[in-house]
Amino acid sequence: MLRCPPLHRAGREAYVSKVVILGVFLADAAFRAERLPRLGETLHGSGFALGPGGKGSNQAVAAARAGAKTHFITRLGTDNFGDMAVDLWRRAGVEPVIERHAEHPTGAAFIFIEAHSGNNAIIISPGVAETISVADIEAQQALISGADVFVTQFEQPLPPARRALEIAREGKALTILNPAPATDISNDLLALCDIVTPNETEAELLTGVKVVSIADAQQAAMALVARGAGAAIITLGEKGALYNNGAESVHVSAVNAGAAVDTTGAGDAFNGALAAALARKWPAERALRYASAAAAISVTRHGTAPAMASDAEINALLE
Ligand code: ATP
Repeated sequence: MLRCPPLHRAGREAYVSKVVILGVFLADAAFRAERLPRLGETLHGSGFALGPGGKGSNQAVAAARAGAKTHFITRLGTDNFGDMAVDLWRRAGVEPVIERHAEHPTGAAFIFIEAHSGNNAIIISPGVAETISVADIEAQQALISGADVFVTQFEQPLPPARRALEIAREGKALTILNPAPATDISNDLLALCDIVTPNETEAELLTGVKVVSIADAQQAAMALVARGAGAAIITLGEKGALYNNGAESVHVSAVNAGAAVDTTGAGDAFNGALAAALARKWPAERALRYASAAAAISVTRHGTAPAMASDAEINALLE
């Protein structure tokens, strides 16, 4: 059995594990057409879908569906997309810690999909989430430092993410950084992370190691630990996920939960369920299997947040 990354004080009877996530909600508007439009052109599309997205929000929904008491820190506009977020979190059981601002819109992603190839072109605007500040984070000091697990990514600005990781570290929280979208980061930021969870592309950007095989992932994970992370989990799509904390390593294969129909958000499903599992003080290998099963279920369903699996569904798959 693997040693889990540094975990927390024990001795809680009937304790509900608490996950706190900082991140962004985006309304994903996806348009399908025979081809992508040219500059200045108006095309008649063949389909349109509007749904909830944003890495942090997706991860919060995944953690809550997996049974963790989940708080999500972000900013929303006072518009309809903001109402969509509040409704999503109410249904998923996520506790929002939000400010709503009238002067900026809620974030959105406009996705243009070429119907025959599935290729896409995307514009993302985090909207009001771009104004999340260090002061917002310091106002939530008690919540963040009291979490069992704290998770963030890079869709909101870096300074509040860094400050939140520092506060989580000063408290009792295990810190997880999902370094997405791919961004290069300093060693001192990595040193604030108990676990860093890049996919293959992000791992390559952070380490210079081209990650194709499991052996490559091992090398990249070790490089991230050498740069200061407590442990690294490299997610490898259909090849599963690899954990390394410098002393011990485990590879978990992807789980077969049926035919994959939409792999968008698989990483978010994985990170949210991983946070829920680690908040229960599970050892790394058990947490990895649980997160892999949650992600496997999500790829059999369309959409991102609506595809997240419940704790019961994940356990049934692992039986
Ligand atoms: P995205 O950016 O689309 O959210 P990602 O690139 O961050 O995804 P991946 O590495 O593709 O994340 O996938 C995350 C995890 O999801 C994998 O480690 C694996 O456990 C699971 N997974 C991904 N694709 C499949 C699949 N086709 N079948 C089963 N499990 C999968």
